[in-house]
Amino acid sequence: MDCLFCKIINKEVSSDIIYEDDKFLAFKDINPKAPIHFLIIPKKHITSINHLQEEDKMLIGELIFLAKKIAEEKNLDGYQLHINVGRNGGQIIDHLHLHLLANK
Ligand code: AMP
Ligand code: ZN
Repeated sequence: MDCLFCKIINKEVSSDIIYEDDKFLAFKDINPKAPIHFLIIPKKHITSINHLQEEDKMLIGELIFLAKKIAEEKNLDGYQLHINVGRNGGQIIDHLHLHLLANK
C-alpha cells in the first residue's frame, strides 16, 4: 500500500519520532502550524474517521488518551487536537492522524 504514514511506521521514511508503542506512533509534523505540532497515528492503517469500524472504538479512545499522556509528558499548558476528515475537511494524508498543537 502506498501510504506515507505506513512508510513512516515501517521506518521506510524517516521522521522525528517522539513516542512509539505497539499500537501508536507520534512524530513531529514536517510543516508545523504551531510551535509544537505532533501527529499521533494508529499503526493500523485506517484511512480516515469515515473509515472507522465498530472494532476500532477502543483504538480511537486510546488515541485520544495517548494525546493526553503526551501533553502531560511535554508539560503542555493547554493544547488543541484536530482531526481533518476527507479532502473537503482538509485531510491530505489518507491515514487517520490526530494533530496535537500547542504554543508551549
Ligand atoms: P492533514 O491535512 O490532516 O492530512 O495533515 C497532514 C499533515 O502531515 C500536514 O500537517 C503535513 O505537514 C504533515 N506531513 C506531511 N508529510 C509529512 C512527513 N513526511 N513527516 C511529518 N509530517 C508530514
Ligand atoms: Zn497507512
